Amino acid sequence: MGRARIIDGKAFAAGVRGKVAAAAADIKARHGLVPGLAVVLVGEDPASEVYVRNKNKFTVETGMASFAHRLSVDTTEEDLLALIDRLNNDQAVHGILVQLPLPDQIRSAKVLDALDPAKDVDGFHVVNVGLLSTGGQGPVPCTPLGSRMMLEHTLGALDGLEAVIVGRSNIVGKPMAQLLLQRNCTVTVAHSRTRDLPEICRRADILVAAVGRPRMIRGDWIKPGAAVIDVGINRVPGAEEGKTRLVGDVAFDEAVEVAGAITPVPGGVGPMTIACLLVNTVTAACRQHGVEVPAELASL
Ligand code: NDP
Repeated sequence: MGRARIIDGKAFAAGVRGKVAAAAADIKARHGLVPGLAVVLVGEDPASEVYVRNKNKFTVETGMASFAHRLSVDTTEEDLLALIDRLNNDQAVHGILVQLPLPDQIRSAKVLDALDPAKDVDGFHVVNVGLLSTGGQGPVPCTPLGSRMMLEHTLGALDGLEAVIVGRSNIVGKPMAQLLLQRNCTVTVAHSRTRDLPEICRRADILVAAVGRPRMIRGDWIKPGAAVIDVGINRVPGAEEGKTRLVGDVAFDEAVEVAGAITPVPGGVGPMTIACLLVNTVTAACRQHGVEVPAELASL
């Protein structure tokens, strides 16, 4: 078996953003509708700052309206809930994203519950979790959505494939399982109590790693020819003293010799997460205004 095909998430995300821009221009021209995304950041977490900056940049670049709300680290839960209430009622805002983590004095669950489910473009509200698991129509979490898009682009129809997802978080593992079930995969969700994880991973035609442990999944855990989606983002010491670098949950150098296709870290799943946030915002704007979702997005 030769080296795996590298799934270029950066290029794929650029293509998706192009489709978002075309869709946004289309609904503006035909309906006078400009999708708007509000991003709320509480405090000054450096990683969150970078995410929020990129989200604003790509929102504007794709022709949408971006509303950034930066609140101080000592913001009260009451004040944040008041802002959410204003955004829920703001006609120019179709998507609201509250950047996590929030400071300790604010209960994240309480804040996510307060979002209008129709504007919850992260897809974390219990109503949207319920809609996803019962086959309804609501915003779907961005990271798993982007991961599935790359899998379908690489493999075509996923029907009947064995999928193993390592990790069962509400943000990645569980919604990923739902999205692959929707496409008729046979899905196994593994976690920290799973027995003989390597053997379970070896069954997978599709292996999704969402654990948060650098290089945990080794090359000999992978079925030859499998498609590997590495969601993990782990900062580890770099080759040079004092420098760090990002690695995934999969030992890439080993896996690339066995897998049929694999996403790199960085440049794999990460860029797709923001691209899908933009897709979700345009889709949410269309649904809130009873406008048909443009074909280029509906087919993603
Ligand atoms: P969580 O910490 O919420 O969940 C991790 C999951 O991995 C848990 O279900 C846990 O099991 C499981 N796990 C931990 N250790 C092991 C082990 N030794 N063997 C098997 N399973 C294990 O993480 P997230 O889902 O939020 O994120 C996972 C990774 O993905 C992180 O690196 C994160 O940075 C990255 N990420 C990347 C995104 C992107 O845009 N690319 C977006 C979101 C996350 P248990 O439930 O039993 O504790």
